[in-house]
Amino acid sequence: MQNYDDLLKENIEWVEMKLSLDKDYFKNLSKGQKPPFLYIGCSDSRMPIDTFTQSEPGSFFIHRNIANQVFGNDMNFLATLEYAVEQLEVQHIIVSGHYECGGIRTAHEKCTNSSVISSWLMPIKKIELENREELDKIECVERRIDRLTELNVLEQLKHIFELPIIKNRIESGKYPRIHGWILDIRHGKIKEIVVPMEEWKSKGIIPQNYTEQQV
Ligand SMILES: [Zn+2]
Repeated sequence: MQNYDDLLKENIEWVEMKLSLDKDYFKNLSKGQKPPFLYIGCSDSRMPIDTFTQSEPGSFFIHRNIANQVFGNDMNFLATLEYAVEQLEVQHIIVSGHYECGGIRTAHEKCTNSSVISSWLMPIKKIELENREELDKIECVERRIDRLTELNVLEQLKHIFELPIIKNRIESGKYPRIHGWILDIRHGKIKEIVVPMEEWKSKGIIPQNYTEQQV
């Protein structure tokens, strides 16, 4: 693991490496951003999504918090979303959870005291209670926590679809596609979470004209 001084030293090495490949790299990078993706992920230190997707700076506009939560009253998140959708016009919104998430595990095991983190994770406890029937059928505790991780991503996707800014965009016909991911930290691979499109359309969560494919 790097120590503090290593960070600055390795920054200089990285700058030199980039310039050796493209002398205008930073000149071009400083001109502005037009990222295709808004990424909403967990704050976990093992989740730098650009590393896992081999992406360069400029690819992802990013919002991260513990256990990748989407709240309609979170000004930090709403400002990020509005800027990404209205100004940057991102083409895709990705909500990504990950297995072995400390936030999900804490919500599952001991989300009972009055700390700030417990309050933050309480909605995950609620997701667990709402899906108790399905989760109780899974005998392996680890697999049950994995499923809760997936259900949490689905719930956050639902929240995004229900936000007025997104609903209005979809109804206007020009909108970003919305995706759910799980980063399987045990193997390094990303897996897509399937949104129950028809069910959510029939419940009015997703407007009828929404399609997953860009036209
Ligand atoms: Zn996490």
